[in-house]
Amino acid sequence: MVEKNKLTTDAGAPVPDNQNSLSAGPRGPLLLQDYQLLEKLAHQNRERIPERTVHAKGWGAFGTLRITGDISKYTCAKVMQPGTETPVLARFSTVAGELGAADAERDVRGFALKFYTEEGNWDLVGNNTPVFFVRDPYKFPDFIHTQKRHPRTHLRSPTAMWDFWSLSPESLHQVTILFSDRGLPITPMHMNGYGSHTFSLWNQNGERYWVKFHFKTQQGHKHYTNTEAEEVIGRSRESYQEEMFGAIEKGDYPKWTLQVQLMPEADAAKTSYDPFDLTKVWPHKDYPPIDVGVMELNRNPDDYFAELEQAAFSPSNIVPGIGFSPDKMLQARIFSYADAHRHRLGTHYENLPVNIPRCPVRNYYRDGEMNYTGLRTGNPDAYYEPNSFDGPVQDSNVKEPPLVLSGAMDRYDHHQGNDDYGQVRVLYDLFDDEQKQRLYTNIAEAMAGVPDDIVRRQLALFAKVHPDYAAGVKAAL
Ligand code: NDP
Repeated sequence: MVEKNKLTTDAGAPVPDNQNSLSAGPRGPLLLQDYQLLEKLAHQNRERIPERTVHAKGWGAFGTLRITGDISKYTCAKVMQPGTETPVLARFSTVAGELGAADAERDVRGFALKFYTEEGNWDLVGNNTPVFFVRDPYKFPDFIHTQKRHPRTHLRSPTAMWDFWSLSPESLHQVTILFSDRGLPITPMHMNGYGSHTFSLWNQNGERYWVKFHFKTQQGHKHYTNTEAEEVIGRSRESYQEEMFGAIEKGDYPKWTLQVQLMPEADAAKTSYDPFDLTKVWPHKDYPPIDVGVMELNRNPDDYFAELEQAAFSPSNIVPGIGFSPDKMLQARIFSYADAHRHRLGTHYENLPVNIPRCPVRNYYRDGEMNYTGLRTGNPDAYYEPNSFDGPVQDSNVKEPPLVLSGAMDRYDHHQGNDDYGQVRVLYDLFDDEQKQRLYTNIAEAMAGVPDDIVRRQLALFAKVHPDYAAGVKAAL
């Protein structure tokens, strides 16, 4: 018979009994010296960490990104070179619901990817939509408050949502996608992922291209109507976890085609829309998508908490050959995601096994909570920089080409010169009659109980997209 592994305390000492606590006689009180019991209870008290303020409920898996196309002339990033295979962790999520929220709720889905490249982790932290509700991060915390619970009723508030949206016309594009079919995918496998922001690619010749990343589902787009979703949630609140975990266990590995849209650096000054505005897409006819590779997810995590709850994605994680852009929302997220992880997980969150790069990490960061890697310089005398003790040094070969920026410092009214309606109209015109009808109904259902003046203000915005849009919603109301 195979001998079973022996249970130990956290300090590694064998545990003689894991069923009966230590007491003074069978009917007597417990003894404070029962350290095994105390440690077990203390651990239970500390099992929860703060859930993510947004994107708390998630599902994910590991897999591979394989580069099948050739964009090597645009970027020196090793992860993008033809034939390269890179391990990836994907985490999908809803935005507003808490950790225990039902999966099949109408909401934007997070689409977060961590590529463990040989040049460091590259995180693409996007959504299943190519645009977002706001274009200036100053508005982001207020927007999220409208999606969360009302401070007094502790209920979600349609009034707050439509009040904010009707006062923020830049939200119309995302609102229209949210209440269209794509706002309620049947599983994360049946939706696209978009890097959403504009990033940049650069090559060894110092040339820069602006880029949008798209992950197109190979499973096809599939969506629930509101009624279907109610029935699903009545049966199971965990439908995404069941479907995706189950598919991967069975060997039905979901795949996405990676595409990029590329814009020469100088074009950014010429487009009629701001190409760094997160409420806009780049029309495909102007910047056609190019196939770059295939992402496959093929391994479920062994421990949800360790590998998904502690997974820390941040748009600040880029690698040589990939850069940022003037997108204001991106720039705020570069700060706020890493800051959120330091708060939720601790200073050294990048040391956690799921986050640690698969390439060497060498730097002079010292001490701090949960610092498990200790010396990262290869020599204890090299604990500052510059030094004479062969500590790690900067590498000018990975310096991004300079970017010329100009403009007077001011707080610019971001509604000035921005067309919040044109691209929404193009999308609206793509919908067939049935899709439009579902859009109207979904919006009308979500507006239940919202005061008339707010509804009227929102209808006026729909009318600017298309009179039929406003009329359709009005009729559905
Ligand atoms: P195109 O006609 O060339 O683009 C059509 C794209 O629209 C499709 O490729 C698809 O994007 C997306 N689309 C099609 N049906 C729907 C739907 N029911 N809900 C949401 N998206 C849909 O024109 P444009 O490039 O000018 O885009 C038209 C509109 O499509 C945009 O205003 C935008 O709202 C939306 N869109 C555009 C994207 C882009 O990057 N240009 C990306 C996604 C949506 P996909 O191939 O990504 O599935």
